[in-house]
Amino acid sequence: MADAPKYVYFFGGGEADGSAEMKNSLGGKGANLAEMTRIGVQVPAGFTIPTEICNHYSDNDGTYPEGLREQVDEALKQVEKVMGAELGSKDNPLLVSCRSGARESMPGMMDTVLNIGLNERSVQALAEHSGNETFAWDSYRRFIQMFGDVVLEVRAREGEYHDPFEALLQAKKDAAGVQYDSDLTAEQLKELVTEFKTEVKSRTGQDFPDEPIDQIWAAIGAVFGSWNNDRAAVYRRDYGIPHSWGTACNVQAMVFGNLGDDCATGVGLTRDCSMGTPGFNGDYLMNAQGEDVVAGIRTPKRIEKSLKDEMPEVYEQLETIGKTLENHYKEVQDIEFTVQKGRVWLLQTRNAKRTGFAAVRIAVDLVNEGLITPKQALEKRRIPADDLNQLLQPIFDPDGKAEAQEAGRLLARGINAGPGAASGHVCLTAEEAERLYNEHPDEPLVLVRRETSPEDLRGMRVAQGILTAFGGASSHAALVSRQMGKTCIVGCNELNVDYEAGTISVGDTVLNTGDWISIDGFTGEVFTGQVTTKPSEVVDVLIHKTLAPEESEAYQRFAQLMEWVDEHRKLGVRTNADQPDQAIEAVAFGAEGIGLCRTEHMFFSHLDEIREMILARDPVIRQDAVNQLLPFQQADFAGLFRAMDGRPVTIRLLDPPLHEFLSARHLEEQPGLAEKLAAQLDISVEEVRSRTAELHEENPMLGHRGCRLGIVFPEITAMQARAIMQAAVEVQAEGIVVHPEVMVPLVAYQTEIDNQSAIVREAAEAVFAETGTTISYQIGTMIEVPRAALRSDEIAETAEFFSFGTNDLTQTCLGMSRDDYGGFIGHYRENDIVPHDPFQSIDQGGVGQLIELGVAGGRSTRSGLKIGICGEHGGDPASVMFCHRAGLDYVSCSPYRVPIARLAAAQEALASV
Ligand code: PEP
Ligand code: MG
Repeated sequence: MADAPKYVYFFGGGEADGSAEMKNSLGGKGANLAEMTRIGVQVPAGFTIPTEICNHYSDNDGTYPEGLREQVDEALKQVEKVMGAELGSKDNPLLVSCRSGARESMPGMMDTVLNIGLNERSVQALAEHSGNETFAWDSYRRFIQMFGDVVLEVRAREGEYHDPFEALLQAKKDAAGVQYDSDLTAEQLKELVTEFKTEVKSRTGQDFPDEPIDQIWAAIGAVFGSWNNDRAAVYRRDYGIPHSWGTACNVQAMVFGNLGDDCATGVGLTRDCSMGTPGFNGDYLMNAQGEDVVAGIRTPKRIEKSLKDEMPEVYEQLETIGKTLENHYKEVQDIEFTVQKGRVWLLQTRNAKRTGFAAVRIAVDLVNEGLITPKQALEKRRIPADDLNQLLQPIFDPDGKAEAQEAGRLLARGINAGPGAASGHVCLTAEEAERLYNEHPDEPLVLVRRETSPEDLRGMRVAQGILTAFGGASSHAALVSRQMGKTCIVGCNELNVDYEAGTISVGDTVLNTGDWISIDGFTGEVFTGQVTTKPSEVVDVLIHKTLAPEESEAYQRFAQLMEWVDEHRKLGVRTNADQPDQAIEAVAFGAEGIGLCRTEHMFFSHLDEIREMILARDPVIRQDAVNQLLPFQQADFAGLFRAMDGRPVTIRLLDPPLHEFLSARHLEEQPGLAEKLAAQLDISVEEVRSRTAELHEENPMLGHRGCRLGIVFPEITAMQARAIMQAAVEVQAEGIVVHPEVMVPLVAYQTEIDNQSAIVREAAEAVFAETGTTISYQIGTMIEVPRAALRSDEIAETAEFFSFGTNDLTQTCLGMSRDDYGGFIGHYRENDIVPHDPFQSIDQGGVGQLIELGVAGGRSTRSGLKIGICGEHGGDPASVMFCHRAGLDYVSCSPYRVPIARLAAAQEALASV
């Protein structure tokens, strides 16, 4: 086997085969264990089997490449040597853990087995060697429980609420009259081991394996197999992690935090990752094993509050390690540690997950502390652009909250684990949450659990907030909620959650499934009933102006970050806005212009005139109806020009199918409408009905809409052009600079843009002649059907700018109705037919190619052609980044997405230099 490639990477005793750079192969955990070993942080010896072997295992029916076994044997010998212990030894047995570790952390999604190597022989030896029989037998029962669950799949069956091992453990504690696992005696634990083994035999028909090496291989197989379990696949889909990556497997010597009162285990953060406050913090449990902290079974103590007093030397070691790691990685670290007899061992370090609040604060603070540069602060991995959303998140309306407090509706308090405020209906299981969400997607939900496990992920995704009775700030519920940006409270110990009865209670107050509950993720307060929410501080400073910038630190950091963002981004960011108030909000968020004003939204407030226009068969009557709309349109456009104060304003000519204004449904739902219209137009009710019926289209999205309206009814285009130019003249006369850009929708042929362009120019010239003023303006087109992208060179002969309408371009490129795709897209996502929803994030392989063609064609005719995007994708970070790479000049998105688009643009600009 001398020629077999290297499959196994050893670390321990100050030396390591791997390093932090090898994350793709060794996974985050393995690479960092190697790195920590190299920089002198104390790590128990072990080895990593790379992700490539996981892929081999998945692709070859659970088998391994030749040579792996020998390399594992060799590495195990090295671990034995460094740790001074031997697998299965009668004197000093080595126990190992077997843990997954993918390239990117997927907390709790895959499997882990601890205490491997125990059997009837070695447990005795462990008891003698450690001088602690209770510890040895407790380790053995934990091992059987974990191995039984993860490897042998001995789990709660359908209809059972409890894990079979947990049920036996609880029965043992009840019989012994004790509360905690740690109160059981060695004798009771021995009995439990026998009961566990009997349970395994009765459920699997097999004896529990005794040989350490067999246990190790079975655990390695389970870890690799867990890459493909359902929750891991769901997680990967949500976070865009490719299924092809695979996980590495880390086999590592065990150290024990449950050997006595000079032992502990915990998870720590080098700074707080909920709000970003500086200072080492975390959860720990004295005399416990690692999974006790994360599982949330016992509520841990806080490192920053009590460890200093309970174990001062340990606290000091941790602080030093925290600083070493932050200085080395230049990033906040999330560590797992075990204290064995007063000595701290690191089991993991990784860049910490954090809320959007914390991400912004930490990045800005690290710059101000001189650890990183502003450019580094903007890295995507430090602040995923979408996370800025959290700074724009609602909080409870103070009056509503005070009212709830005064009314005695404060139910309980827990640990504030995910900022934000959520008010919703109580649901107790993930399935129930999913079902309710599917039935009423607009009804908010709060998922209440004793504790959460990765199985609850689906429920957490659809809930506005998560509340758990147990667990600390680093429990599963806390980590996952923070990452999802959900409001979350954990460790709300007073809460009694009764799954069987479908209730939660505190004292005499009982809430049923479906009742309202409100949780404040900033303070940890839980209220009964509904509490109204209000927007964020950033929004209060920028939009409501109810808070002065100097009163809000959160705002100041946001502003600092956005300054760096604007220094680095190349892509412009505009907004889609139809009303002056929206435009003003968007400018406050940093919009540099309007990229899309949908003029039909203005029409909806003048339905009488529109309907008259639609029903008129006689051009004179139609012209008359259209003329009635002119002053309204002019006033609306003038409002936008004023709000944008010199910034460009792209106004799109009328686009929607006419039946949106008048259809049989309108006549049916509004009794008397047909009669009213008949009287207005002096025609018969029958004629109103027959004309309305003529407007009906089977495929209105592919029907008489877009420029097709303006071509068949040129008076509409002429009126809109006149309204735009008159408004521009009016506002320019007030001393405000105006830059109107008239945009023609749904163009496929050059002749269409030629036709519309001529009408607009004629109207403009007439206005200029009448007013004696000239306005500089441009006429451009949307590129939203494939033909326009394909013939963009011709279209650019007339069009002075392009804007990609990726909503329609996606619809027409994929032949997927933007209104009806909801029926199957969920299935497509779940089954990996599509990597993401193409109406949310650009289908770069298909629609993206059309965009690239459109850009190349357009600029082959007009080299400096200005090009933007105004479909919903303009606010999606991945799409914004694509637009940067495709050479667009700007993206346009809804006002609240503007900061997110700005950050994404800067991140791509920095990534592609
Ligand atoms: C588009 O199609 O992307 C677009 C912006 O236009 P609308 O959504 O109004 O069709
Ligand atoms: Mg469109």
